[in-house]
Amino acid sequence: MMTRRRFLYASAAGAAILTRMPKASAATYDIVIKGGRVIDPSLGINAVRDVAIAAGKIAAVEDNIAAEATEMIDARGKLVVPGLVDIHTHAARGKDGPPLALLDGVTCWVDAGSSGADNVDAAAEVARSGPNVGRLLVNISRTGVAAGGELMDLSHANVDLARGAIARHRDVVVGVKARLSANVAGNNDLEALRRAQEAAAPFGLPVMIHVGQAVSPMRAILSLLKRGDIVTHMYAPPPNSILDDSGRVLPEVLAARRRGIIFDFGNGVADHFNWDMVEKAMKQGFAPNTFSTDWNPMSRTTGVVDFPNVMSKFLMFGMSVNGVIARATVNAARVFPSFNDRGTLNVGAPADVALLELRDGNFEFVDNYKGTRMGKQRLFPIATVMGGKRAPQRA
Ligand SMILES: [Zn+2]
Repeated sequence: MMTRRRFLYASAAGAAILTRMPKASAATYDIVIKGGRVIDPSLGINAVRDVAIAAGKIAAVEDNIAAEATEMIDARGKLVVPGLVDIHTHAARGKDGPPLALLDGVTCWVDAGSSGADNVDAAAEVARSGPNVGRLLVNISRTGVAAGGELMDLSHANVDLARGAIARHRDVVVGVKARLSANVAGNNDLEALRRAQEAAAPFGLPVMIHVGQAVSPMRAILSLLKRGDIVTHMYAPPPNSILDDSGRVLPEVLAARRRGIIFDFGNGVADHFNWDMVEKAMKQGFAPNTFSTDWNPMSRTTGVVDFPNVMSKFLMFGMSVNGVIARATVNAARVFPSFNDRGTLNVGAPADVALLELRDGNFEFVDNYKGTRMGKQRLFPIATVMGGKRAPQRA
């Protein structure tokens, strides 16, 4: 199918050039994004290219596409990257979430456990009706995220109810979430995680755990994870962080990565990272597999701001632009099979594209403890194309 479409577009574009058909009758592209620096780690592209879009799909990524297009987007001086994939958000808390995320270049998002069995139906509706691709992790607690800690009462971690929630919403549920901090789960962290695995198992789904300041040691928690599971808030400070008392990455953490556990940044607002943790881990080469914001519609006034801002924090720690884009596109898309044709500008893939601007200057970045660091570069969201259609732009 993709091959056939690719052939049709390619020949249509060729015909238009060769015969100089008048615009009205010529087969044309819907959109051509001209002259930007295309960075697509899934294809190993980092070069000035044009991107042509037709019928909602990527039709060509080439030098100087001369064919007619209904709409031209001038991307000179901008980065043109696959639509951003944010695997830890709370965008399904309300209908305003998904369109706000889209303004930031986020074309695929996962709501990570805002809701559990009792309230997942409303979240699923938000995921289905948004302008971008929305997916959910069902909280193992039937209540979803709750003030005072949704796992303090272990009876809330009800495996049958969680399985029922997944079964009702197989089209949008892509995993199970368990928050394991002491202020969420108390002494119940390991048993809650066992139940999350039990709920996910019949569906073959991953579990995402929120770590940091748990009662149980990191190694005990990691021992309950399987290949493809995700550790979010990977740089949460002690107690029970990924580092030992002398600041070395724990051998069990390195072993977990080797057996296919995904380590995710998960910016968030409180207690999820400080600069000291990031610096120590990055110096040992322990970078995130994926970035995520832990974003909700209120996040614009916090240290999150937007996904490109979160990504920029790692430019400050010496990660390449290519490496930063990879973690917010292809790496993230590979975590969930739902996104297997996303996070890429491959010909035939859905035309989800983010235009970003990489500005030089002095930019202040904030951790979760009001710690600030100054960086020399920051990515800004400029425009988004979602499924081949230009999305509204940020005011
Ligand atoms: Zn979260």
